[in-house]
Amino acid sequence: MDYDVIIIGAGPAGLSFARSLAETKLRILLVEKSPLASLKNPAEDGREIALTHLSVKLMKQLGAWDRVDADSISPIKTAKVLNGTSRYSLDFTRPTESLEALGYLIPNHLIRKAFYDEVATHKNIELITETSVTELDTNNSFGSITLATGQTLTASLIVSSDSRFSETRRKMGISATMQDFSRTAIVCRMAHELSHQQTAFECFHYGKTMALLPMTGNLSSVVITISNHKVEPILKMDDEQFNQQVQQWFGKQLGKISLVGKRHSYPLIAVHADKFISTRYAIVGDASVGMHPVTAHGFNLGLRGGHTLAGEIKQALSRGKDIGFQSVLKRYERKHMRVTKFLYHGTNHIVGLFTNETRPAKIIRSTALRIANNFPPIRHLITSKLTETGNADFLPPLPSLPLPFKNPLSRS
Ligand SMILES: Cc1cc2nc3c(=O)[nH]c(=O)nc-3n(C[C@H](O)[C@H](O)[C@H](O)COP(=O)(O)OP(=O)(O)OC[C@H]3O[C@@H](n4cnc5c(N)ncnc54)[C@H](O)[C@@H]3O)c2cc1C
Repeated sequence: MDYDVIIIGAGPAGLSFARSLAETKLRILLVEKSPLASLKNPAEDGREIALTHLSVKLMKQLGAWDRVDADSISPIKTAKVLNGTSRYSLDFTRPTESLEALGYLIPNHLIRKAFYDEVATHKNIELITETSVTELDTNNSFGSITLATGQTLTASLIVSSDSRFSETRRKMGISATMQDFSRTAIVCRMAHELSHQQTAFECFHYGKTMALLPMTGNLSSVVITISNHKVEPILKMDDEQFNQQVQQWFGKQLGKISLVGKRHSYPLIAVHADKFISTRYAIVGDASVGMHPVTAHGFNLGLRGGHTLAGEIKQALSRGKDIGFQSVLKRYERKHMRVTKFLYHGTNHIVGLFTNETRPAKIIRSTALRIANNFPPIRHLITSKLTETGNADFLPPLPSLPLPFKNPLSRS
């Protein structure tokens, strides 16, 4: 066997999973199709990742948290969810004074860099870059991959973390449920004159959703989710036109608002694999569950899934068992599936309801916010789960972390 574990894809999920196994004596290989330079210094991609307390805890355990410059980490202290044209908001605040924030916002490229830098310090983790895995196969004794270069490598266990559109998951015959929302998220950073007070807004407006996520200083991550056919005109606007458009949508509560850097767009397609494992094979990260970003669970789940799988592997090692055994993988699948199915379908239902503009749906949308606001146990349950810090293996499913969207009509 060339390696114990081969991981396909060195995105944040693949890198963090590799790092979770770094302290074992396992020989690990990461295969990534992008060049090494883009792992060492990933480009800013417009994604600002809202992390739960559990993710922060896991990142600390894995040595990645301290590698992110503290000035780039922004606490989300309060969150407001608004509906349609109403100024009424569902508010989330810290459940206890001892918690500094509901969650933390960190640029995606810094998370990727932190995990790459961590992985690079561990000699038992090798990296092959600028080549894809084109074929893979597994049997009861071992798994093998073939690179675009023609080289074949073997391992006890093959793990795919090659994005929600994972080709290798497909080659292994694992089907997936996909939901195409026919919408695209346009994300960018915008500077503003006034402070956001570390408050995040999420508004399920009619025709589009808009988010305002507090970054450090007078800077926010703006997320506009809109029907696919309306995206091109927005991306083609010059900076001045774009600023005016966003100003019109957001109103003046942050003063003058202006674009910083580039606009990025992400078509919204959610994916949930029907299985997470096969013979000597497992999937983690978006390859297992690619979430709609509105509830900010994607990487949080990726980190959690990698942690769960690594935990099962370590337990197998401590008992002298083969890490590729079906029983080992099955436990990972059972635990993680329990978490992801609830969140995946729950998130898609929320998106379905809050993008439905029929009259009954509008009434339900408004009622749902009021119920959550006026029944403290419900709001407390959501908030406390949202800030959960317990052991990932025993945590119940996390609720939707409300990625803040501002009501564009609230002040204008
Ligand atoms: C707009 C937006 C906002 C988001 N906000 C949040 C948030 O607030 N909180 C949150 O938790 N999550 C959020 N997410 C989700 C988060 O970004 C993803 O869950 C996460 O990046 C997925 O990481 P990954 O490593 O699984 O996949 P990817 O980042 O897609 O990485 C896959 C890697 O595999 C490589 N690869 C692919 N095929 C092959 C192959 N055949 N051979 C070798 N390598 C291959 C690719 O080059 C890539 O590097 C957001 C996503 C979007 C789009």
